[in-house]
Amino acid sequence: MRQSIFYSILISFILFPLVNQAQSDKWDTFYETSGTLETPDYKNTIAFCKKMADASDMLSYQVFGKSARGLDIPYMIADVRGFKTPEEAKEAGNVIIMIQACIHPGEPEGKDAGLILLRDIAFRKKKFSLPENITLLFIPIFNVDGHERFGPYNRINQNGPKEMGWRTTAQNLNLNRDYMKAEAPEMQAWLKLWNYWKPDFFIDTHTTDGADYQYVLTYALEDGLNIDPVVGGWLKESYLPEITKHMFALKMPIFPYVSFREWHNPRSGLISQPAPPMLSQGYAAIHNRPGLLIETHMLKPYKPRVESTLEIIKKSISFLSQNSKTLHDRLRKADENARLLAPRKVTVPVSFGVNQKDSTMVKFLGINYDVITSDLTGGKWFRYGKDTITFRLPLYDKAIVTREITLPPAYIIPVEYSDLASRLPLHGIEVDTLRKATWLKVDTYRFSEVKFRPTSNEGHQIPQFKAESDTATIFYAAGSLIVRTAQPTSRIIAHLLEPQAQDSWVSWGYFNRVFEQKEYSETYVMEPMAREMMEKDPSLRKRFDDWLSANPSLKDNQWEQLQWFYKQTPYYDKAHNLYPIGRLSQQQVDDLFPR
Ligand SMILES: [Zn+2]
Repeated sequence: MRQSIFYSILISFILFPLVNQAQSDKWDTFYETSGTLETPDYKNTIAFCKKMADASDMLSYQVFGKSARGLDIPYMIADVRGFKTPEEAKEAGNVIIMIQACIHPGEPEGKDAGLILLRDIAFRKKKFSLPENITLLFIPIFNVDGHERFGPYNRINQNGPKEMGWRTTAQNLNLNRDYMKAEAPEMQAWLKLWNYWKPDFFIDTHTTDGADYQYVLTYALEDGLNIDPVVGGWLKESYLPEITKHMFALKMPIFPYVSFREWHNPRSGLISQPAPPMLSQGYAAIHNRPGLLIETHMLKPYKPRVESTLEIIKKSISFLSQNSKTLHDRLRKADENARLLAPRKVTVPVSFGVNQKDSTMVKFLGINYDVITSDLTGGKWFRYGKDTITFRLPLYDKAIVTREITLPPAYIIPVEYSDLASRLPLHGIEVDTLRKATWLKVDTYRFSEVKFRPTSNEGHQIPQFKAESDTATIFYAAGSLIVRTAQPTSRIIAHLLEPQAQDSWVSWGYFNRVFEQKEYSETYVMEPMAREMMEKDPSLRKRFDDWLSANPSLKDNQWEQLQWFYKQTPYYDKAHNLYPIGRLSQQQVDDLFPR
């Protein structure tokens, strides 16, 4: 007895502290050591990732690209069997999950949650063991240059951590607006990584601004109009209910990521609508892949933000592990459906809104607030209290399609735009090359009513325009690019190449030059020529008068009136306001590429 007490004492005073120390020192993350108040900088993050990878066969440290300033962009692979390539993972039937942190480095919860997750997987298996059928890809810091702008003054609204990185890249680009236009070197590297692995499920981690409420974590997951219903339906009916139930059981209630009809004012009603594809979750959706956006709330302390991020990731992993076969079946089906959109002439929605008249009442866990009239600015501001309140609020989440198109069998892009077209393969889009120069009569679009937004967006001059279907005969030089649409990436093709898609190349201003008229007639040339034209063709006078009475504001505008005549002459540039990318018929494709 005495001996056993002796040994107990020995064990508790000597051995346990040793064991605990081994556990609590070497593999504690920087965030844990800091008392959950701080997040590691770039150097520290890389060092910890490498240290873990060196010590575990299940983890591997990789680099997938360089930032604009030349820094390595890292990612980790976690796999029980030590798989390091997509071939191995796919061969084994594994679910490949990609988790991304710090696309906005001021919002680093995902980085700290991910480091804990990998540490637990490799060294504290009792806390979390990675299922064998999961291959995990973890990007701890995507925007590495932004992360290097590390300091305490990067997020004025946010409650910790003590220091964090900056939202944009060294080129002042917001990577979470760049998924479609793909102009940042970081995004180009990411797209290569995405298409190398073709993940089955994607998670992007953020912190949100906006009104206060009880939810530490809100989420967005495309399950409606801009993802194949085979995948969307499954997410809505299977994945989301289970995740939501689990998080409520953990006393970490979650809610869809919403905006308020009136800024900061939950009582005004909630709005949730499909994400445009320039955003990560919207981009994953048109790749036929689920993309979960996590937004923890900036006013909550850092610890519950990291913990809720970690819990939703863990639950997603175990859910996807248990449902791997269903997931893979549905993704395969969605890829096949996407390949068949054009042959089946299924319409593709390329722009969305929300029905502002159709809402459902929902329970919303809010925080009481007063609306105060400022004696400083005269404006209204919201002072959030400490009392919780359960609102019954209208949720407007019935998405509507504001523009849809039918895909042609192929598009043709003139060789003079190959700089831009060279980004297509980054999206996993296959492209053929035209071998012989040719004139083609193609379906395309004619632009009118072109205006520009007064401020630039991500360095682009954003046009607003009308685009009407038109046919035109266009010269395509050898080397022009043919994009067939019978591909799993057909939705991305539509969203890039259809001018009226919300994140198309035209919408981002890459074709602004076609809106520019480059030749003009002198008034002293056009005045007599207009008279001659009317003499030759008496109907012209009536057409001119009709046009003028339809545009009374131009009654005293000599320039515009002569422009009207100039447009009737063969001198006027037929390529002005013409979209040079053509929509080819099946016959044209067959003629260009005889079988
Ligand atoms: Zn963000």
